Amino acid sequence: MTGEFGLVATEETDVPGDEWEEIDYSDTEADRIARQRDREFSEFRDRIKDAEQFKVSDSVFDDATYGALYKLVQDGYIEAFGGPLSTGKEANVYTALGGPAASEKLDADRDERHEVAVKLYRINASDFREMGDYMEGDPRFESLGHDKKSIVLAWVRKEFANLRRARKAGVRVPIPIAVERNALVMEYIGTDTGRAKRLGEVHIENPETAYEVVREYMCRLYDAGLVHGDLSEYNIVVEDSELYIIDLGQAMTAHHPNHEEFLERDCENVANFFARQGVDTDGDQLLAYVYAHADPETGE
Ligand code: ATP
Ligand code: MN
Repeated sequence: MTGEFGLVATEETDVPGDEWEEIDYSDTEADRIARQRDREFSEFRDRIKDAEQFKVSDSVFDDATYGALYKLVQDGYIEAFGGPLSTGKEANVYTALGGPAASEKLDADRDERHEVAVKLYRINASDFREMGDYMEGDPRFESLGHDKKSIVLAWVRKEFANLRRARKAGVRVPIPIAVERNALVMEYIGTDTGRAKRLGEVHIENPETAYEVVREYMCRLYDAGLVHGDLSEYNIVVEDSELYIIDLGQAMTAHHPNHEEFLERDCENVANFFARQGVDTDGDQLLAYVYAHADPETGE
């Protein structure tokens, strides 16, 4: 079956970086819900609009975004909304109580409830030109339109697919749960007392070991044909002595014409951070290690 990006997306061609799911970026269920404006949706929207935790973030919330959240509730991924975890340039992240469908994706009992993280991308405020640069050369985006909405919606799908691929490659990342228009639902990394701290926010007991773990994750990612593209102590979090890589929206495949430069920059950022913690390394060493230990299968 040929997808919207002209790619053959079947099991047999599950080559790293070549996978793609159907993207319906022109119209989504959420857009349709927003247009329909039935009474239940309107009530839902008004309730969310009035909720204290969403008051700060009006720019994310167009009607279709309420539609996306409504759909996620209806599909059993979200049961209740929590507070904001982060307000960023491109997206805001919130906690929410997951529904039965979320528990299932987390490999838990459907009757158990788990906290989830919901990343909501802004369609209007997003720097979509920069996003476009990241998608250059990516065969998954060849026939993508150039309007803001298509680019941002494809980006959200890309983050979801990247999380899935990273996880499959044995890298600890938040488990992807659902994606709906500009909303991405994933595993919440943290506890009741708060979100997991970023690597740059904690005192690292044993920097050498932490460095080796991150280095191994970078190799596994690259082996799976992925380069993070924004890796640093800000996008690695620590929970219960485990390191998790987050924020994979910009991660690109080894098809990207500049993927080597991005890998070089990731190595530079990571090595410099650990060098400041006393580890004897630098960007060149880390890059050489990744090249020596990983061999991306691009299927070419
Ligand atoms: P940036 O601030 O780099 O622009 P961003 O808006 O692209 O970031 P992320 O880096 O994905 O978004 O998330 C922002 C912050 O939200 C993270 O630094 C982290 O503290 C928190 N966060 C994101 N995802 C999760 C998660 N799954 N579980 C817990 N906290 C999370
Ligand atoms: Mn980030």
